[in-house]
Amino acid sequence: MRETKLSAHDFVLPLFVSEKIEQRREIRSMPGVFQLSVRDAVDEARQAYELGLQAVLLFGIPATKDEAATAAYHADGIVQQAVRAIKTACPQLVVITDVCLCEYMSHGHCGVTQRDGEHFHVLNDESVALLVKTAVSHAAAGADLVAPSDMMDGRIAAIRQALDEQGFDQTGIISYAVKFASAFYGPFREAAESPPQFGDRRTYQMDAANGDEALREAALDVEEGADILMVKPALPYLDILWRVRERFGKPTAVYHVSGEFAMVKAGAEKGCFDERAAVLEIMTSLKRAGADVIVTYWAKELAGWTRE
Ligand SMILES: [Zn+2]
Repeated sequence: MRETKLSAHDFVLPLFVSEKIEQRREIRSMPGVFQLSVRDAVDEARQAYELGLQAVLLFGIPATKDEAATAAYHADGIVQQAVRAIKTACPQLVVITDVCLCEYMSHGHCGVTQRDGEHFHVLNDESVALLVKTAVSHAAAGADLVAPSDMMDGRIAAIRQALDEQGFDQTGIISYAVKFASAFYGPFREAAESPPQFGDRRTYQMDAANGDEALREAALDVEEGADILMVKPALPYLDILWRVRERFGKPTAVYHVSGEFAMVKAGAEKGCFDERAAVLEIMTSLKRAGADVIVTYWAKELAGWTRE
């Protein structure tokens, strides 16, 4: 008898939707992962649903960026368009949207920044105001869950309040409660076209060395009204995943990130191990460590592998 059993329902498929392309474009360091037009994203979403997956997570790549991330909260922005199209084609599929500003800011940071020579600050409250607008516009387009990934203080409470006030009390919040500054985000920045143009994100993401701080961050998000807590990345942080799940007893998600994906792909291509066996072992470890939901670029393959 195996105590940990994987099924298609465990997995969420991330989709990169771009306003700038007509044809799907493969991401160099992530074989089999593509930037998609809205039309192709709808096809992917439908396929995912038919394979038995319950949810997709959308990231947007806008045609234009500016210093106010305008395209993030435009009613006809790329994510808003994609949500409407996917919910029309596939109403049963749960659509989760990433809520952040980095893909929409010309400087690539997750919030409004103020520069001071070599130094820069992220302005927390100004950033939260834009994140709230973005989350509400996603909900208005039909998103079932919004997933703020920016790590600004107080954004969960602000988003919850705005959603409730505007009639979106059924829209849930997945909080990236615990997001570590990580070497493993590299390929994602190509996928989402969001590398910071100056500085790095260590001022607002967490230090890998601090587990207790992770629990304090998660506690704040629970208090502020997060429905699901997310830990990111996955494999180097299994202990954090376990502690968050045990401490709060909340549905807990984990994001197996782009660099973790690329690492396994590269190893498998070199013949170091069998891809499918490695992926199943990793996913089992994530679920065993407490994950109720696993965001992974292998979601579609896993739907098949776990059925067999
Ligand atoms: Zn961001």
